[in-house]
This record gives sequence, C-alpha cells and structure tokens, in this order.
Amino acid sequence: MKQEELARLDQPVTVLSGVGPKRAQQLKKLGLETVRDVLFSFPRSYKDFQRVLQPHEVEVGEDQLVHGPLFYLQERTISGGRRLIQASLGGILTLTWFVHHRGRGTSYLYRRLERAKELWVYGAVKEGFSGLEMASPEFFVAPPPHQGLMPVYPLVSGISNQQRIAWARYALKFRAEVGECLPAQYLTKYMGRSDALLQLHFPSDWKSQRRARERFVFEEFFLFHLNIQRGSRRSKLGVAHRRDGSLVRKYRELLPFSLTQDQERALEDVRADMESSRPMRRLIQGDVGSGKTVVAEYGAVKAVESGGQAAIMVPTEVLARQMAARLQKSLGPLGIRVELLVSGLPAKEQKRVRQAIETGMAQVVVGTHALITDKVQFNNLTLAVVDEQHRFGVRQRAALLGKGNADLLVMSATPIPRSLALTLYGDLETTEIRQLPRGRKKVDTRLIDPKQREEVYRYLVSRVKQGDQAFVVFPLVEESEHLEAKAAVQEMEELRAGLLADVRVGLIHGQMGKEKDDVFRAFYEKEIDVLIATTVIEVGMDVPNATVMVIENAERFGLAQLHQLRGRVGRGEKPGICFLLAYSYGENTRARLDVIRRSTDGFYIAEQDLQLRGPGDLFGVRQWGQPIFNVADLQEDREMLELSAAEANKLLQEDPELRNHPKLKAELERQRL
Ligand code: ADP
Ligand code: MG
Repeated sequence: MKQEELARLDQPVTVLSGVGPKRAQQLKKLGLETVRDVLFSFPRSYKDFQRVLQPHEVEVGEDQLVHGPLFYLQERTISGGRRLIQASLGGILTLTWFVHHRGRGTSYLYRRLERAKELWVYGAVKEGFSGLEMASPEFFVAPPPHQGLMPVYPLVSGISNQQRIAWARYALKFRAEVGECLPAQYLTKYMGRSDALLQLHFPSDWKSQRRARERFVFEEFFLFHLNIQRGSRRSKLGVAHRRDGSLVRKYRELLPFSLTQDQERALEDVRADMESSRPMRRLIQGDVGSGKTVVAEYGAVKAVESGGQAAIMVPTEVLARQMAARLQKSLGPLGIRVELLVSGLPAKEQKRVRQAIETGMAQVVVGTHALITDKVQFNNLTLAVVDEQHRFGVRQRAALLGKGNADLLVMSATPIPRSLALTLYGDLETTEIRQLPRGRKKVDTRLIDPKQREEVYRYLVSRVKQGDQAFVVFPLVEESEHLEAKAAVQEMEELRAGLLADVRVGLIHGQMGKEKDDVFRAFYEKEIDVLIATTVIEVGMDVPNATVMVIENAERFGLAQLHQLRGRVGRGEKPGICFLLAYSYGENTRARLDVIRRSTDGFYIAEQDLQLRGPGDLFGVRQWGQPIFNVADLQEDREMLELSAAEANKLLQEDPELRNHPKLKAELERQRL
C-alpha cells in the first residue's frame, strides 16, 4: 500500500487532470515532470483575498480586494491605438485600465465591464490627482473564486494560474508520503514537512505562510550544508598532474597578450593545485571581462599534457558554441583536439563526439548539461571546469566530477561577498581576479530620467547607424499575472513601431525555447542591430560590436545583476555606454543605482547590494540563489544560512555517517540524483 502511494508521487504529470502530452511539454519548461515536482513548486506570491473592503475602507498602499457598485464607465482613445478605460467604484475609488485596441467600436474589456453592475477589484491603492486610484486592477464580476490567500504560481504560456491551483491541490493529497527528513530535535522549532507543504501552497494566514517558508528555508540550507560538509570530509586521493612541460610553455608563448598579475596568480594557484595529489576544489571569482577563460585554458592544456582530458561545462548552448570556437582557435594550433557537445547537435554528430570522448580522442570537451548525461563516458577526465557557476547547482557540479577522478575548477563572474562565499563555498578555495586587462575601458554608466527616454533611444539609433549594436533590457514582470513573454513582446512592439522603427530589432526572453538560439546567432552575425531582451542575456554573451545598452526599469534589478548586464557592452575596441532608466525612486533605489553608476568593482557592488537590499524585495528579482535553492533566498535568509551551517556541523560531529538519521540520509541521497 505504502509502496504504491510513494510511487504515485513519482508519477508523471500526465496523471493530473487536463494534462496531456502537449501540456506535459509546457510543464517541463517549468521543471515539472512528476507529481512530486508539482508539490515542491511553490507559489511566488499570494493574493490577499482574506478581507473584502468597501470603497470607503480602502487604505493607500498594499494590494487589497475592494467590492462596490460600478459608476461612470468610459473609454477614450489616447495614442497609438491605446485606449484608456476609467470607472469609479462607489464614487470613491477611480479605476483605470490601458488597453490596446485598434479596431472600431469599444474594446473587449470595456464591453465586459459594461455588463457589470458591481465589481470586485484587486490591486494597490494610490493617492492620485482625482483622489484614490487603482491602476490596472484585476477584476471579478462575481466574488473571487478563492478566499483567503490565493497562491500565484510561476507560469508559462498555455498554462493558467487556476490550473496550477487545481494541480497543486491534487498533488497535496499525497503530501504525507513525502515523509519527514529533519531529525526530531528540529521539529519543535520548525513546522513539519507535510503541514509546511500545505501551508506554503494554501496558507491559512500570513503567519502560517511565514512559518512554512521558514521550515523549507532551514531544510534547504541544512541539507545543502550537510552535503558540502560531508563532501569535504571525505579526503580522496586525486590526480597529480605533471609539472608544466613544453605543451604548456608553447601555450603561454602563443598567447596574444601578456597576462595581468591577477591572472598570473590564478594560474599559479591552479598549477599548484593540479600538481598536488590532493583533489583541486578551486573557485575563480572575477568580474566580467577579467579574463578567466585563460585560467581554464591553462588548466586544460595542463590536463592534456599529463595525458588526461578536460571538460568545460557552461550554462547555455550559445555560450558553449562560443567557448568551443574560442578554444579551437587557441588550443588547436597546439595540436589539441577540442570538441563541442550540446543537445542541439544532430544525433549522429553527438554520437561521434561521445565516441571521441570515450576513446580519449577528444582531449578538451566544451558543453552544456549534455556533458553530464549517463551516455557520456570519459576516457580519463582529470579536469572539470564549471563556468558561470551560479547557473549550476551543487548536484550538477558533482555529476560532472563524477565522470572521472577529476580536479575541479569553478569560475564565477558573479562576485559574492566574502562573508557569503565562506558559507556557500566552504568546500572551495578561492582565487580572485580583480584587475581588468590593461586598456579595457570602463562602461560609462548614466542614470537617466524617463523624460530623456526619447533622447536616449535617438542616441542609440545614431550609434547603430554608425555600425554599432545595442541591447535593450527589460525586467521580468514578476508580480503581475502577465507572463514575462507577453509584457516583453508588447514593449518590443511599441519600441519597434516607435523609437526603434529605423533599425533591425530582435527579441529574446526566458520563455522562448530553441528559437532563442536563432535570435542570438542573428545578433552575433549582425543580422539584428538591437536585441531587446529580458535578463537571459546576462550570462557571458560576448559581442564585441555591442556598445550601447539601455536598461528599462533599472530600479527593479539587483545591483549584481545590473553589473553583469552592463558587462555585455564595451567588450571590443570601442567603449561601452549604459543608460539606466529608472521610473521610480525610493531613497534606497537612488542609493543603489548610485553605487552602480560610480563603481565598476563587482566585489564592492556585491557587498553594497547585500547591505542596501531591503525586506521589500521578498519576491523581487533574485540573483545568485535561484538555481541552487527552491525557497530560500541567499540575501533575505542569510541569518538562517549561517545558523543551518552551524547545525549541520554539529550534527556531523556527533554522527558523521548519519547512522542515527536514516531518513535524512535518504533525502540527501535522493537529492544527489
Ligand atoms: P571573462 O572573465 O568574462 O570570462 P574572458 O576570459 O572572456 O573574460 O576575457 C575577456 C576578453 O579579454 C577576451 O576577449 C580575452 O581575449 C581578453 N583578455 C583576457 N586576458 C587579457 C589580457 N591579459 N590582456 C588583454 N586582453 C585579455
Ligand atoms: Mg567567461
């Protein structure tokens, strides 16, 4: 009986009502393949339908649900096919919506409202010109379908929040089967796992939601620390690579530039680590453009010179191709065979590459996650490099390492404050590259008032006319029901029709699949002048011809992220310029954007970011934490991060093999898969 129900948790999502093969594909984009995945995919926010207010009861600020009679409904055309709908709730609260409607007659939204006598609206209330206002509220013509706190899930197109709610309810039926993994001593302090699952999806109130969240934050951090602490306790014998010989010397001679001092120091650290029989576990932290690739190349040549193989794992296919091409150019002349392995290659080619890896013909392999599938077997992997490491979890890192008895080199362009790095990467030794190569110009960063928006775009167009390329970046629309894709597409259409009418524009966003690579390639090949994108461009894109970046709603980005983004311009001969358009300023926002305007030191920026981010960012743009943790946020929850590290340490001291905690151990093993 028990066996069967456990198995039900691992059933594919197609057991959910309304999920066929097509939906299953869409859900896969959200990382949902089994009922268990649905159970552990939590809302990113909630709508508070706990109280229904009368119009005279509303308060300025927070989102709230208001019910009242609908008065004075009207629709006006404003410009460019846009309409403004205005109405009043109970003669007290002004409601406004903007809609795109080019046709004759009234808009669809207007016609829906026209039939309603009363309305339930949900949104934030502001003090406007004409009294209290609610802009673009969500509305219901009947009482909202949900009472209490309604979960809002991350969505992809084709899937509605209502469906996600129904599926979560279904998955929750099996919640007791997930079992408790925390040792009993923690359960007086933290909510039980099964209750916490329920309360995180459908909280009874805010307090229960907070307690449920706290439990998972602890669980995630605690397990994470147990994993890394247990890993570092096992002292294995690694490969001792040969001392630098003629191949490495030749590599260094062929380098087209002389290395910075910091690069020299990084090479020296890697040399010592790789030559020692103690396994290397090293993190190279260095700003975008600081020249980390040289370190990876050096390690790879050294591995090859010792008769081993090197694997370099990067987060996207575009980056993999870019890196492979680069290494073919730098290592090819040394007679080193470099291969690319990504899932986008034709099956036959993949097979050929896998065979070359197995026989050892392929000496250096660059790839994506495709490298860590079971099918890939190395002949003698002695160096594993993980680039842009914040995109990978500990598990993926471990999977790559597991392909051989390899030394590990992790490279990150997202500097993490030292205090955090110590806790997070306690198992890695760190080398920092703080110097930029000589002659590299700093990106000129300017804070722009929206009034100058047109001017900025005119400047961008003028640069494009001179042959440069540009980026326009939009934040994810996290908190609204709108899908990221929809919002971005709409903005692009507006820009394309208006300010960017004279140049060739392309769009990419996180919801796009393979087409994304096509757009990237078109941008590389200069078939596109301006790339409008959400933050997907932040990782390692290298287009030296791109010189201008406009970041819309810069106030909604984290500092480290802004810093990453602007690193995409000014990578060639010409200096880069980055415009930060901020549409609202709190005092804090101003201070934060000022940091980014003044400083180009990623480490300093990361520290400031940590200090200046407030609790208001609860569901804001996440930065480095995301891929590693599901619920926990590295900034918000850093006290818990430290506390759980200490708890993990304590437990392992009492019981290094976790003999008294079989369930905990089982959970750790499960997560390693
Ligand atoms: P990142 O640290 O962002 O991975 P890269 O390794 O891609 O940086 O280097 C950025 C650019 O700088 C590359 O075009 C590379 O060839 C160049 N570069 C690296 N080191 C130096 C150096 N010491 N002097 C001049 N150019 C360098
Ligand atoms: Mg790089």
